[in-house]
Amino acid sequence: MKLFGSSGVRGVVNRDVTVDLALKVGMALGRSKKSAVIGRDPRITGEMIEHALISGLVSSGCDVVRAGILTTPTLAYASRGYDCGVMITASHNPAEYTGIKLWNPDGMAFDSKQQEEIESIIDNGDFVAVKWDKVGSITSCYNAVRDHTDMILRNAGRSSMRVVLDCGCGAGGTITPFLLREMGCEVITLNSQLDGHFPARNPEPNEKNLGMLMKVVKELDASLGIAHDGDADRMMVVDEKGSFVTGDELLAIFASRECRSGSKIVVPVDTSMIVDDALPDARIIRTRVGDVYVAEEMKRQRADFGGEPSGSWIFPRISYCPDGIYAAARIVDIVKERPLSELTGDLPCYPTLRGTIACDDPLKEKIMGAVKQKLGPMGNVSDIDGIRVEMDDGWVLVRPSGTEPRIRITAQARENVEGLYEMAETLVKESFG
Ligand code: MG
Repeated sequence: MKLFGSSGVRGVVNRDVTVDLALKVGMALGRSKKSAVIGRDPRITGEMIEHALISGLVSSGCDVVRAGILTTPTLAYASRGYDCGVMITASHNPAEYTGIKLWNPDGMAFDSKQQEEIESIIDNGDFVAVKWDKVGSITSCYNAVRDHTDMILRNAGRSSMRVVLDCGCGAGGTITPFLLREMGCEVITLNSQLDGHFPARNPEPNEKNLGMLMKVVKELDASLGIAHDGDADRMMVVDEKGSFVTGDELLAIFASRECRSGSKIVVPVDTSMIVDDALPDARIIRTRVGDVYVAEEMKRQRADFGGEPSGSWIFPRISYCPDGIYAAARIVDIVKERPLSELTGDLPCYPTLRGTIACDDPLKEKIMGAVKQKLGPMGNVSDIDGIRVEMDDGWVLVRPSGTEPRIRITAQARENVEGLYEMAETLVKESFG
């Protein structure tokens, strides 16, 4: 049974992700791990899932240390002292969702092979309940947030700028406001009280959900607006004029500071060619969509930077876990030198069109096969995730959604992006035969 997606186990509580499932994940994990640190975002169902996971882990003989409510990057950083880390979060998904994400001591999420091992133990009911006197211990630790904060402070500068911070009532509220103040910033918080109902906004930090942040940055004359998702592995920004900065722009800004000539940068296949144009001396490597695939490829390639335009930024000198809190500290450092609107103003702007076509899951493979045949001769083809064709003046990506019965089309071009998009759309529609 496929339990893990690109972001671990994820779904609606008590429907897809149940106490029974959490117990089994704990029992399966406890078979091979002797110690685990466990944490959760503030979703109201977090503690319920945590207790089930803990019961499974200790019944298999694994010692568990509870780190409480914290962000995913804080938990990933804390994992360095244990055999593994367990984070209960559904990231940017709405409040009724939950999830379980597993971490290695080096801050890398469990890869596909590790996840398949857990799945196979669960499928086969291959659990090992230890003797009564070998059951694992349950203790707590209270220094995970302090340790993570100190690590970031060692790697960040100081600034007195005025920053508006919107944590979306998620786990970011446990660390980012305090970190930025310790850096010297004047911090004005929005939605930074923890509330697992996520009453203020949808946790995904996209332009649609950050209207309040954009307004407040402008009205209070701040230099920067920062927003997190529910577990703060993501971070997005608003410039001093109150305009949302796109993920492609932010990726180019970070990458240009992390890279030297010849550096490798890893991005998913749907990343804008802004990044290629802004970094002519770097080698841009494209992977499947999903921050864990970006991190795995970065490790393989020894890349200097990687990220996803959805707001995940990976700085390998501190961790292979996307760290929205460190990214917040970095953007403060960068904006100190020059206003954000000037930095984005230097970047090229290419029109991009995105859309979807309904397609039942069993049909996806056939359609994609036909699309590949037709698109293939048109340019440079990559089939890492869907079919991406690069042409002289742009690129088009046709990709089956992993979570919905749809095929996604993305087109970007220096000119006539409509023509390119329509060509791809017609091609997909024709493939239904
Ligand atoms: Mg997240």
